[in-house]
Amino acid sequence: MSKTVAFFGLGHMGGPMAANLVKAGFKVKGFDPVAALQDIATSRGIGKASSPVEAVAGADYVLSMLPNGEDVEALYIDREKLLDHIADTTLVIDCSTVAASSSRRLITEAQLRGLNAIEAPVSGGVAGAAAGTLSFMCGGDAANVERAREVLQHMGSNVFHAGPAGAGQTAKMCNNMLLAIHMIGTAEALQLGVDNGLDPKVLSEIMLKSSGANWSLEKYNPYPGVMESVPASNNYEGGFMVKLMCKDLGLAQQAATASRSYTPLGSLARNLYGLHSLAGNEELDFSSIQKLIGK
Ligand code: NAD
Repeated sequence: MSKTVAFFGLGHMGGPMAANLVKAGFKVKGFDPVAALQDIATSRGIGKASSPVEAVAGADYVLSMLPNGEDVEALYIDREKLLDHIADTTLVIDCSTVAASSSRRLITEAQLRGLNAIEAPVSGGVAGAAAGTLSFMCGGDAANVERAREVLQHMGSNVFHAGPAGAGQTAKMCNNMLLAIHMIGTAEALQLGVDNGLDPKVLSEIMLKSSGANWSLEKYNPYPGVMESVPASNNYEGGFMVKLMCKDLGLAQQAATASRSYTPLGSLARNLYGLHSLAGNEELDFSSIQKLIGK
């Protein structure tokens, strides 16, 4: 009999991730407060749950892909109190990017109820979610991470065990701080080239084969029209929203303050993304930082 998954959060990432589980033969019940997303999910073969509690009944796995830590803690502990309705045979896997302290709280609260939970934030973007090639950075007990591979392998090509509860979020925070920095650097270099008469496509080809090559340039070019099927060529719609990048950069700065680590470029990246967000761009994809740098 096929295993069942309750999936919370059917947005940019959660929608295609849940669809890949359907393709892999899991019986998936989805829940998202946005009715339009629930309808798209239905068209992808994802069942509709009338309530969060109904979604988790009889589930082998409960997965969530929510915007931030407050949403995760509200769903599982403080508002819907979902942990009080989940069976002890179920494994909870939260894939949202949240503070390490938030993941530790979720995992501890689950343990207090005799339940198993891990964090598994991801990297790879919307394209990786659709293609099933995400990287999962898991934190929690090794045995639970091993068990989670049964579902994670159908949504990603890499499943890392970063360490105990919170370690996956720490890895994710470091990765996204670096991502923001190389996205801003890539946008700057492209704009400088264009302002000095270069074709951004030609400049991108040159830098991709030179020492400036990086993930933003290779997979997610921020200059409109250089690459097909990226947010920059779709008015910066879809993808990873500026407000979510601001959240991640804020988490990195909080952690840096707590550990007395100095991250001057991470701090600058947070300020640039913050100003870009305040200028009315918070819902756009994060590669739209090109607009801040452009003339
Ligand atoms: P999104 O806003 O598109 O999707 C989040 C969804 O969660 C929304 O549809 C929202 O309605 C839903 N939601 C909120 N509270 C809920 C609840 N209680 N129950 C069920 N659904 C609920 O955001 P996204 O881009 O899919 O990002 C989700 C998470 O993944 C974030 O933590 C983000 O930082 C992380 N992430 C995103 C990307 C990316 O490229 N978009 C990449 C890696 C990680």
